[in-house]
Amino acid sequence: MDNLLQRVKEIDIRQVARDLGFEIVQSRRMNCPFHVEDSPSLVFYPPPQNEFHCFGCGKHGDVINLYADACQIDFKTALEELATRYIPAYDGVRHKTIRKLDIKSVYTNKPLPEKQFKFKPIYSEIYERFQQFCLTQPATESARKAAEYLRGRGIDDWTIRHFKLFVIKNYIVANDFLKSNYSLEDLKACGIVNDKGNLVFFVHPIIIPYYQDGRIVYLQGRTIGNPPDGASKYQFLSGVPRSIYNLDSIKKLRPNSEVYLTEGAFDCMTLVKHGMMAVSLGSAKIFKKEWMKYFKKYKILISFDNDTAGINGANALIEDFLMAGILAEKRDWNKGFKDINEYFGRTM
Ligand SMILES: [Zn+2]
Repeated sequence: MDNLLQRVKEIDIRQVARDLGFEIVQSRRMNCPFHVEDSPSLVFYPPPQNEFHCFGCGKHGDVINLYADACQIDFKTALEELATRYIPAYDGVRHKTIRKLDIKSVYTNKPLPEKQFKFKPIYSEIYERFQQFCLTQPATESARKAAEYLRGRGIDDWTIRHFKLFVIKNYIVANDFLKSNYSLEDLKACGIVNDKGNLVFFVHPIIIPYYQDGRIVYLQGRTIGNPPDGASKYQFLSGVPRSIYNLDSIKKLRPNSEVYLTEGAFDCMTLVKHGMMAVSLGSAKIFKKEWMKYFKKYKILISFDNDTAGINGANALIEDFLMAGILAEKRDWNKGFKDINEYFGRTM
């Protein structure tokens, strides 16, 4: 059958969720089956988009992903089962009925990886000594390119110093530094090396440190310019839950202060440089419930990117803020621009 994949992707995702036995509330939300929670943070985007996104754990996908992951079967099997059940002309005969899940077991059989993660003070020490080490290394070609790239994005010297950005000037030397100073166990636990025991920031030499109460609690890497094939622009620590970028700066503001919420850390830096209060989430798709408390007293201005993920993420997040009794709205002054950096780059 032609375009079977396309036709299956168009099956109403909420209908499939209901048929699986999930309860949908407020016509577009349900308790996420992929992490443990008490209130629904999984949101459906109805057709034509026909996708789901969980603001608790960040899981995202289309109707086939939802069905496959909820049933714990592979994509191809999910595709066939959905086609048999929902597409009348499909003549596959292997699966006559949709599965009915034992919802209880779905909710309880997947402990949250984040629940198992426990931050230890040694992790901050590793991140901070790594930063010190990188800052004191001699300049290299890669460092020069990184500086040039940052300047091109409007990240000036003040911003670099203020946010304590640093660059891995020589990957091999940096990798050796870590391994000769810390145990592999600690390095893996704090996410700075991968399963093979190597520094995760292989093609991401620009490092953005996240601070909490003055200590580094997270590192995020960025490629210089566009990423090479197969890589993404950002590299996050391995197995360590993300936190909010620049969070310290909004901890003691006056009530009703305006706080910008951005996707990217560079957007956040640019706003701060221009005198605004801002934090970044690192993604339009991840907002953890336990983060709500940081925003309680403020007015939130959401300035995500002008793409589908950004627009959908902002809309869903505004609803969540409003439900939590927090004033939130979109700040559209970057309309017509891809993101905030581009806006300031073109207009200031
Ligand atoms: Zn979830």
